Amino acid sequence: MTELFRAAKAATMIPDAPVIIDAAIIVSQGIIREVGTYSDLAPSFSGTVTDLGDVIIAPGLINAHSHLELAHLRGKCIPGQGFVVWVEDLMKQPIFDLDDGELACAIDEMKRTGTVMVGDIATRFAKHMAGVLEASGLSFVVFVEALGEALPKKTFIPAGEYGNGIMSVAGHSLYTCHRDVLQAAKKEASARALPFSIHLAEHDEEVSILTKGKSPFLEILRSRGRLLDYEPPGIHPVQQAARLGLLDETTLAVHCVKVSDAEIEIVRQSGASVCLCPRSNEFIGVGRAPWEKWLASGVNLCLGTDSLASNHDLDLFNEALYLKENFTGELTLDTLLAMITRNPARIMGVSDKFGTLEPGKQAVFSTVPEKVTELFS
Ligand SMILES: [Zn+2]
Repeated sequence: MTELFRAAKAATMIPDAPVIIDAAIIVSQGIIREVGTYSDLAPSFSGTVTDLGDVIIAPGLINAHSHLELAHLRGKCIPGQGFVVWVEDLMKQPIFDLDDGELACAIDEMKRTGTVMVGDIATRFAKHMAGVLEASGLSFVVFVEALGEALPKKTFIPAGEYGNGIMSVAGHSLYTCHRDVLQAAKKEASARALPFSIHLAEHDEEVSILTKGKSPFLEILRSRGRLLDYEPPGIHPVQQAARLGLLDETTLAVHCVKVSDAEIEIVRQSGASVCLCPRSNEFIGVGRAPWEKWLASGVNLCLGTDSLASNHDLDLFNEALYLKENFTGELTLDTLLAMITRNPARIMGVSDKFGTLEPGKQAVFSTVPEKVTELFS
């Protein structure tokens, strides 16, 4: 069946292309066939016409960073008191009591709010998460999270064939993984031409642990028998990630709050992408990333909700709204939408399917909510 979708406006997200007024998109077999104005495409079209009305449509959204395993912790964690309070509280929670009902709710929330793909970190249940996401119809990269001091016996990435997604590997962070583990994880992702993800420069504790080897969080880890022989490298997180060879064009560095101008330049030169999680940073109380400097740097910038242990919901438009409301200086609708469409498509390796509305791509749209569009009027 061939269908024509009509909308008042379409933000195709093709670089430098203007928003199409009175737009039409012709779709068959789930693939976009033509994109243009209604007046150009309608006269020669025969098939079903669906008028979406007075809305701006955009490509389906990509959430570059979430932890769906923690869906059952919605509303249960302590906000606004800094990383140590947050993580101590988190470690008392039933982190690994996966709840398929809450998981289904979280995935449904993503789908209802325009998300079509997620880059999801799985600490313990990667194959289960991939299976659930596959069944849900959401596309995905499930990042198997490397954590701790020991290298796995075979590979980080379990075998599994999925129609809607892939599995790759992430390092949890510079301060919770041995450097050998991080380098091995990155090496495995690179060998398979897969994206690699790592939480980087998220909070002051991380900076203290790396530069001085001192932090209440490090003491917590050591009291649990972890990182007993940890030696601080004596340099800042971005510098250490670069020294370990973790930053390149297939790396997605998540958070990047505690960074200097020189470190932004290190990331830019590496070609790595950055995922900002503004509401998670605010929730935990770690401060705010230098968004404006990241944007000015030209780095491929993405947005993620992070988990429901550090956010109120998984609605990417709410993430975008928060960024726009708190941004200093100019942030255009195109730039904002790029961070949840074509930019994450690039780092996730799915630019052939998602990220823009153009012929040959998957026919998946989001509708930009009025609460977002009115900030630009
Ligand atoms: Zn995270």
